[in-house]
Amino acid sequence: MKIVFATQNEGKKREIKRIFQEFDRIELFFLDDFDIKIEPPLENGKGFEENAILKARYYKQFFRDFSVVSEDSGLCIDALYGAPGIFSGRFEGLRNDNEKCDKILSLIKDVPVEKRVASFVCVVALLGNETAPKIFTGEVRGKISFSKRGENGFGYDPIFIPQGDKRTFAEMGGEKKDDFSHRRKALNKLKEYLVGRFNRV
Ligand code: IMP
Repeated sequence: MKIVFATQNEGKKREIKRIFQEFDRIELFFLDDFDIKIEPPLENGKGFEENAILKARYYKQFFRDFSVVSEDSGLCIDALYGAPGIFSGRFEGLRNDNEKCDKILSLIKDVPVEKRVASFVCVVALLGNETAPKIFTGEVRGKISFSKRGENGFGYDPIFIPQGDKRTFAEMGGEKKDDFSHRRKALNKLKEYLVGRFNRV
């Protein structure tokens, strides 16, 4: 089975490759494996799932012979009423990871440790030739640190401490992050679904 993973985000790509590395039942492609330039779609869904589906449907038009997998993910902070949420990629007009982390830290600088609760959410959509996409969701609860820590990963990794550890995601090696991560949880569900499908044919 040939799958195009429709993301240009280098941080996500690294994780997806790692999570799929021993899964040899699919041929995994990314957008830049193809010699076509595709403008990204407008992500104007009302939630992660709507955005994931919208991306899958959009990219499927260009890759009719492939199954398309897309994902939408983000950080939801309780003290900010769920923000940045679906706007995690472009929070308050900022796209730079460092600036986005600083912005969050300044917005919740007076929030005490017990109230710095947050979740990373990842929704994955698989769209083959059927009309309805299959949806897989992963979530990890944790806390926002008081300062940026660590050099690994991407996005908000330097300020997120998953429940069950004291390190931020950026202080962990990638494989350790995978043990906790929202993306790994969602992608494991996708893998289980695909294995079930292969076993039925
Ligand atoms: P999307 O491309 O709209 O799904 O943007 C998701 C954004 O959420 C990314 O650009 C990151 O800023 C953030 N994000 C999602 N997953 C992670 C993660 O695993 N670590 C850090 N930041 C993440």
